[in-house]
Amino acid sequence: MPTIGVLALQGDVREHLRALRSCGAATRVVRRPEELEGIDGLVLPGGESTTMWRLARSFDVLEPLRKRISAGLPAYGSCAGMIMLADRIADGAAGQETVGGIDMLVRRNAFGRQVDSFESDVRLAGIGTAPYHAVFIRAPWVEAVGAGVEVLGRTATGRSAGRIVAVRQGNLMATAFHPELTGDHRVHGYFVDLVRRALDQPSGEQED
Ligand code: GLN
Repeated sequence: MPTIGVLALQGDVREHLRALRSCGAATRVVRRPEELEGIDGLVLPGGESTTMWRLARSFDVLEPLRKRISAGLPAYGSCAGMIMLADRIADGAAGQETVGGIDMLVRRNAFGRQVDSFESDVRLAGIGTAPYHAVFIRAPWVEAVGAGVEVLGRTATGRSAGRIVAVRQGNLMATAFHPELTGDHRVHGYFVDLVRRALDQPSGEQED
């Protein structure tokens, strides 16, 4: 059984823990650098990326996160977590830093005020045929991706149709929406499978 940490500086941690457990993972909350030891994967939850960044700095966990993730630790970021995994961001707060790892440009609060929060069915590559009912809350979108990034899903309807809202690059994945808020755990299941596969690969992360 893989052990998956949830970064618990801020945001909807409990819901992710529950969803991961229901997909057969053991879970652990992660706030401090030493709590990154022994985890096989990490979820960066939704919340507020500026707060998460500031807290990661004050808990001295930003650099350790960068190190583990660039060494191959599988990670999944939802909403603010997607922002945290982006190599580049637009409309960030002054000086806002990310953990990075996914070669993409993510725009914060991209869907704008009128649609602060909305729900939409999104077709997600690799998680079955039925569309995923996605909940967006002051969500970002992905404005540009590098060649190594696979687009898993785009918004289908409305003024902002066609926007990239789910991506994967190797062992890293991110969604602009919050799959932990619905009973549909296919996105968490996809991540738990990814973590399991990474554990089976001898060429995976090198422990130091
Ligand atoms: N707008 C938030 C941010 O910039 C993200 C919102 C969310 O995670 N629900 O971090």
